Amino acid sequence: MDVSVVIPVFNEEGNLRKLFSRLCAAMDALGRSWEVIFVNDGSNDKSGEILREFCAERPENVKLIDFNGNFGQHTAIISAFERVSGDIVVTLDADLQNPPEEIGKLLERIDQGCDAVGGYRKQREDSPLRKYASKIVNFARDKMTNIRMKDQGCMLRAYRRNIVDAIVRTNERSMFIPALAYTFAARPDEVEVEHAARAVGESKYSLYKLVRLNFDLITGFTLVPLQLFTIFGFLTSIGSLALVVLLFFRRFFLGAEAEGLFTLFAILFFLVSVAMVGIGLIGEYVGRIYQVVQARPKYIIKETVGFKNDGK
Ligand code: UDP
Ligand code: MG
Repeated sequence: MDVSVVIPVFNEEGNLRKLFSRLCAAMDALGRSWEVIFVNDGSNDKSGEILREFCAERPENVKLIDFNGNFGQHTAIISAFERVSGDIVVTLDADLQNPPEEIGKLLERIDQGCDAVGGYRKQREDSPLRKYASKIVNFARDKMTNIRMKDQGCMLRAYRRNIVDAIVRTNERSMFIPALAYTFAARPDEVEVEHAARAVGESKYSLYKLVRLNFDLITGFTLVPLQLFTIFGFLTSIGSLALVVLLFFRRFFLGAEAEGLFTLFAILFFLVSVAMVGIGLIGEYVGRIYQVVQARPKYIIKETVGFKNDGK
């Protein structure tokens, strides 16, 4: 098998048929053998039934992993990565934001010897708020980690099989697949891709889910936030010591000071809130360690369709 396309699906009933017909046309045109693995991530609309119809329509091309609940986009992708048979693996969103016609472009770069090819969106069609927040996290990631990519949020990507196998072997919980692939790749590259507004429905990422995802990225790839805290702690303790010495002498030479009560509060509130952020930050790392130690299954499958050996 040449190419495996992996598509996570969470309540995308309005998009699937169009996606499937465009995907089939684009993949057939490439002249390579291919499969698509859809992962139904606990949809509670008709997505599951529609995906089963696709399996019946083109059994030689379509496979389905049907989850028992909603385990998240990246976990859904991992479950498919564990079962791909292609030499090249492509990921893609189900909402038609990533045009399937662009897959050929990614495969071309893979053929030229790259092992992880990411798409970056020429003209991103999302809300201004999303785009702005994305710029900030891309900037933070660029400064804090040694992952260099233009557009970490674009999920239209292609990987050589050895990269996908390496991702499967890391037994991490909260993983950010594009970044992980980048760290395993010997020759990563990026190509410009088109991006469309979501065809039907709304983004499945609430603000909370987005924040969680970006914490996964930062905590998974750098300890810089913790180190910044240590440095900040050092600097404030030096500053506080200087203040203690100053006030000590002041008290002896000028007498006790009673003013400045609210200045003191302001400083104190600031430092206490910084300390709370620090505790939260440590919690982000510790919580992830906890999840790995618990070693619960990452996902639970209700049924698979189209795999040999029941997809085990
Ligand atoms: N998705 C998923 N599980 C989730 C959330 C999203 O499988 O818990 C899928 C979703 O169906 C889509 C892709 O992941 O195929 C990207 O989601 P979405 O388009 O909502 O994200 P956005 O484009 O807003 O970043
Ligand atoms: Mg989308």
